[in-house]
Amino acid sequence: MNTKHLTPSAGRPKAIIIGGGVIGCAAAFELSEAGFDCTVLDKGRLCSEATTAAAGMLGAQVETHHPGPFYELCRISQGMYRRWTDALEHTGGVSTEYIAEGILRAALTEGDEQELRSRLAWIQDARWCTPDELRELEPALSPKVRGGLHFPADHQVHPAALARALKAALVKQGCTIREETPVFRLLKDTRSGRITGVQTAEGPLYADTVVLAAGAWSPALTESLGLPLPMFPVKGQCISVKPQAPLTQSTVFTKGCYIVPKADGSCLVGATQVEAGFDKRATAAVIADLHARASALLPGLADAEFLSTWAGLRPGTRDGLPFMGTWESAPGLIFATGHYRNGILLAPAAGRIVRQLALGEKPLLDLAPFDPARHLNQPAPAL
Ligand SMILES: Cc1cc2nc3c(=O)[nH]c(=O)nc-3n(C[C@H](O)[C@H](O)[C@H](O)COP(=O)(O)OP(=O)(O)OC[C@H]3O[C@@H](n4cnc5c(N)ncnc54)[C@H](O)[C@@H]3O)c2cc1C
Repeated sequence: MNTKHLTPSAGRPKAIIIGGGVIGCAAAFELSEAGFDCTVLDKGRLCSEATTAAAGMLGAQVETHHPGPFYELCRISQGMYRRWTDALEHTGGVSTEYIAEGILRAALTEGDEQELRSRLAWIQDARWCTPDELRELEPALSPKVRGGLHFPADHQVHPAALARALKAALVKQGCTIREETPVFRLLKDTRSGRITGVQTAEGPLYADTVVLAAGAWSPALTESLGLPLPMFPVKGQCISVKPQAPLTQSTVFTKGCYIVPKADGSCLVGATQVEAGFDKRATAAVIADLHARASALLPGLADAEFLSTWAGLRPGTRDGLPFMGTWESAPGLIFATGHYRNGILLAPAAGRIVRQLALGEKPLLDLAPFDPARHLNQPAPAL
């Protein structure tokens, strides 16, 4: 839709955003800035699912294992981040607790060292560090580290602070936020095929643009359109511990475990990765396992105080790429889902792309790899 074509009597274009996680809120922030009258609907409380379960790493480098469109998307979003958090903080007056310290990705095994070294062929903003160089940067690291990569541009935010900042900014921009309001289905005009709104328990709601940002729950809403999104929840459990004194300034990361130091002196240790449906119970065994892994990398954590544990459901996709774009069979609907392990990092780019699509502008990168219907074009596997 192009807002330039609206007559003044039509008023402000309306947008409904299904899902008030970081992606839906980022979309609402951009759309309201562009002049849309936005309503964010969430089945629970804003940002209470994957978003506040996250560690908050902006890991464009540390999280990518090969070059390609996903890395390009991560880099673009990382480049937008500081300006985005500044805008949120300026609008809503709430800090995102952005910390401009990088990530050390250390190897404890030969295989991991080889994998990390192989990334040097294409990765940007990275430097190989010998064990001595790593321990010079972070003296509390285990003497068993074999070297690793320093990613100085992989900063962090605090997800709970980011959630508060997003909510304050949306309220300030006049967005309507309706919590405890699940969307049961999308409303479609039978003649044009256009998505015209959503059905809630309180009745139908109509809009010019509907954004699907329902995280791991998104497929339930596209099934009836004939578009089964190949998505699934990936459970991640974390713990929070507090060492007697701060151990590192940087986030330290090794295969199977990361430790993210937060402003209050606590360390967030994550995370498991389990496909277990929508079960998000945190289990006791994982607490001990994560603590053991973290202590192997940072021995000073051995006697840290245990603070809390929790689990969340990452919106996973079969090919690891998000669904961002539109689908010709459902005009009026914009997909912004499936950001898997990186939704905190990808929120600024995802929000901007939603805005560009809603305004009929060219998106900031080629969206073909993220096409929500890409799997429909793939040949069926041979029997
Ligand atoms: C343990 C863990 C650690 C992570 N660490 C990081 C990290 O360090 N960096 C990073 O970038 N990413 C990280 N992630 C990933 C990141 O949290 C997700 O990619 C991101 O939160 C996805 O955001 P979302 O808005 O798509 O989904 P969600 O935050 O899950 O939000 C979706 C929202 O939609 C709502 N909803 C669903 N169905 C409906 C419906 N029918 N009607 C109305 N509302 C509905 C839900 O209630 C929910 O609030 C981590 C995730 C986990 C679990």
